[in-house]
Amino acid sequence: RKVSAFTIHDVDGSEAQKEAVNYIAKEFEVSTENLRTIVKQFNEDIDKGLQRHGATVAMIPSFVQGRPTGQEKGKYLALDLGGTNLRVCEVNLLGDSKVTIHQQKFVVSNELKTGEMRHLCDYIADCVDSFLTENGSDKLDSDLQLGFTFSFPVNQTAINRGTLMQWTKGFDCHGAIGKDVVIMLQDSFRRKNLNVNIAAIVNDTVGTLMANGYRDPKSHMGVILGTGTNAAYYEKMEKILKWDHGEINVPEMAVNMEWGAFDNERRVIHLTPYDNKLDRESINPRFQIYEKLISGMYLGEIARNVLLHLIDRTLLFNGLSSIDLNKQWSFETAYMSTIEADATQDLSDTQHVLESILAIPTTTLIDRQIVKKVCEFVGVRAARLSAAGLGAVLSHCNKVEEGCTIAIDGSVFEFYPNFADNMMAGLKELFGDQIENKVKFSLARDGSGLGAAVIAMMAHNAPKI
Ligand code: BGC
Ligand code: MG
Repeated sequence: RKVSAFTIHDVDGSEAQKEAVNYIAKEFEVSTENLRTIVKQFNEDIDKGLQRHGATVAMIPSFVQGRPTGQEKGKYLALDLGGTNLRVCEVNLLGDSKVTIHQQKFVVSNELKTGEMRHLCDYIADCVDSFLTENGSDKLDSDLQLGFTFSFPVNQTAINRGTLMQWTKGFDCHGAIGKDVVIMLQDSFRRKNLNVNIAAIVNDTVGTLMANGYRDPKSHMGVILGTGTNAAYYEKMEKILKWDHGEINVPEMAVNMEWGAFDNERRVIHLTPYDNKLDRESINPRFQIYEKLISGMYLGEIARNVLLHLIDRTLLFNGLSSIDLNKQWSFETAYMSTIEADATQDLSDTQHVLESILAIPTTTLIDRQIVKKVCEFVGVRAARLSAAGLGAVLSHCNKVEEGCTIAIDGSVFEFYPNFADNMMAGLKELFGDQIENKVKFSLARDGSGLGAAVIAMMAHNAPKI
């Protein structure tokens, strides 16, 4: 694939269709030069965030002191809220990096996601209660310690304190922004007579980083490429210039970047009309711009906007849409994965998505080829923009030469075809081919539960900051 010079995309079809496809390709292109500009801006924003509170890339210290050793022992609970499900886990740390985990998933309805925060907290408490009843913990007389993975931007003031700054990813509960989420959830536990103490509040990126560090000491970053996107990494204490919580005796601390907010100012990332439409119609317009171009909640919707545009110009499906395709969010990112992975000669998997799931009356092979191209443009751009974020952290931390492991979790990374390869291709353009031998992506599936439990243990035993 040519990168700096524009690649001509060969599709069959009419001249008008060919022209439209190539025009769209151009709109979604992120050249090597763009990548460099984005990395440079990202590096400046990282510095800004480390210097002062309230920067766009928030750079939030996690208050986690030190790294796990693998020798930790004991039984801890973990909660994971912020992606598709709510997970309750019981984690048994056995030493020698051995663990056993029991977990249960619960659905969080849209009503709960956008209702009163109190109701959401009560629901979480009910889930923990039913989990404990079913799994009959033998520790009921003393308080159970819980690590709460809460995957939203929280301005932390202690390991177990922090106020919600924004909702993201379709959550929008009333009465939560500016409030301490630990206190709210702990209140619900108390009202339900649950002997569970929230020992730590943890971002999923920090949990993922810690969990991976448990088995790979070279782990330097934890990244989520799932419903939303974000990253955490180990920062030297002396570089966290805004730290104003007193002396502490550790050389480094995991920092939750909240990189999804990068370029909310719209300086370096080129937004297409399809992105602007998605943003305008979202629950949080003008926020989380970087996240909206990368993560699973949004990629399908961007692709849908492109498809509708082509339909309106009678360049796709003979100008006919369907009730389903006309609905916001109906074109799921998971469909894009299926379509991009479709290796059948007549693109019959793509046909199934379009005709059986989305009820488009009929599609031609050319239609399906065009849809596949559109998915590819949106997906490749997401991977390349992700590479820019990784590249910024790698260069900021001088890890380009030294190398490191990047722990990554999330459906986009795990299931989107070629995503990891396209990210690596971006890193190679930025830093040269040898980067591939230095930097390793490591899938850390559901790592944040283990990470949160380990952090709860560390917090419970550590002196309080
Ligand atoms: C949130 C982050 C989270 C990320 C991945 C974003 O929307 O702001 O806190 O880490 O999603 O779950
Ligand atoms: Mg998750």
